Amino acid sequence: MKKHNFSAGPSILPRKVIESTAEAVLDLNGIGLSVMEISHRGKDFQAVMDETVVLFKEILNIPEGYEVLFLGGGASMQFCMVPYNLLQKKAAYLETGTWAKKAIKEAKNFGQVVIAGSSSDKNFSYIPENYEIPADADYFHITTNNTIFGTEISEDIDCPVPLVADMSSDIFSRPVDVSKYGIIYGGAQKNLGPAGVSFIVVRKDILGNVERTIPSMLDYRIHIENGSMFNTPPCLPIFTVRETLKWLKELGGVSEMQRINLKKAGMLYDAIDKSRIFTGTAEKRSRSVMNVCFVMKDEYKELEGDFLAFAQSRGMIGIKGHRSVGGFRASIYNALPVESVEALIGVMKEFENTNG
Ligand SMILES: *Cc1c(COP(=O)(O)O)cnc(C)c1O
Repeated sequence: MKKHNFSAGPSILPRKVIESTAEAVLDLNGIGLSVMEISHRGKDFQAVMDETVVLFKEILNIPEGYEVLFLGGGASMQFCMVPYNLLQKKAAYLETGTWAKKAIKEAKNFGQVVIAGSSSDKNFSYIPENYEIPADADYFHITTNNTIFGTEISEDIDCPVPLVADMSSDIFSRPVDVSKYGIIYGGAQKNLGPAGVSFIVVRKDILGNVERTIPSMLDYRIHIENGSMFNTPPCLPIFTVRETLKWLKELGGVSEMQRINLKKAGMLYDAIDKSRIFTGTAEKRSRSVMNVCFVMKDEYKELEGDFLAFAQSRGMIGIKGHRSVGGFRASIYNALPVESVEALIGVMKEFENTNG
C-alpha cells in the first residue's frame, strides 16, 4: 500500500532527493568512492559544500553581508549559540510554543530576557499581536513556525533591533525578505534534508559585540572564517540538502513552492472547517501552512483512537498529534505531494460518513 508521510520531523523528502543521495552513498560522481568516505577538505566534497551555499543564497535571495553556515548540533544548539554570540545585556523573545520556550530557557543563562508577547494563556493556539519590542534589546527572537501547535508568523515583521528567527519548520516554504533578519536558523530535518545538520544565515555586522569569551565551536565568526569546516561538517546530510535545493530550484523556487503549499493547506483546512466531526486547534489567522493541527469535536472525542487506527490502515503515517495538543497533526512540508493531502481528506470524509 502507498504510504503518505505526514511525519513532523524527520519528515518526508522528495523521492528524487533520496535516490540521488543513495547513488552518492555508493559512488559520488563516478569517482569510485562514497560521499561518506572522502575527505571533507578534498575537492569533491568542497564542491558539494560550495554549491550548497550558492544554491541556498540564490533560492532564498540572500543579500550581500550575510553568510550561510552548515553546522551540527541541531536547532537546539542555536538556542544557546544565539545568546552566546549576541546577548550582552538584554534580549526579547516571543513565546509561541515549546521550541520558543526552550530557546528562552537557554537565553536566560546569558542575560536578561524580556518576553515581549506570549500565547501561553491559550495553549499557544495563536500568534500574539500588538506586542512591543524593547528598542534597547540586543535582539528579538521569534519562532516563525510553531511545529507542535500549528501556528505560523508568515510575514517578515519590522523590528527595531536585530531579528533572530528559528525557521526550522518553514524554511524555503515561502519567499523571505532576508534583509529584515539578523539571523535565520533551523534544523534541516523538516524541509531540507535528513537530521544531523542545521543551517544558519547570519548578517556578519551583528557579530563581535559581546564581551564574553566564546568557545571556538560556538563562535559564529570562527565558523564563518572556516567556511563551516572548523571541524568535520556533517557531510552526508549536507549533500542531501544540496539535492533538495536542486529539486526546489527546478520546481520554480520559493514562490512556486509557496503557491503549492498554500493550495495544500487551503484544501486541508477547508475540509476540517466543513467537517461535522473534526475541528482545527489554531486560531484561523495564525494557522500554519506546514503543520495542520486538528482534533475531534467534543461530542466525538471518543472516536479519536478509531480514526487514528483507520487512517493508519489506509497508509497515513505520522498524523498523531503531539501530546501537548492531542488529536491529530498533519505535517504537509514542501516535499509532501498534493495527492497525499487529497488522500488524507478522502480518509477523513470516509471516516466521517461511516462514523459521524
Ligand atoms: C524541530 C524543531 C526544533 C528542534 O530541532 P533540533 O534539530 O532537534 O534541535 C527547533 N525549533 C523548531 C521550530 C522545530 O520545529
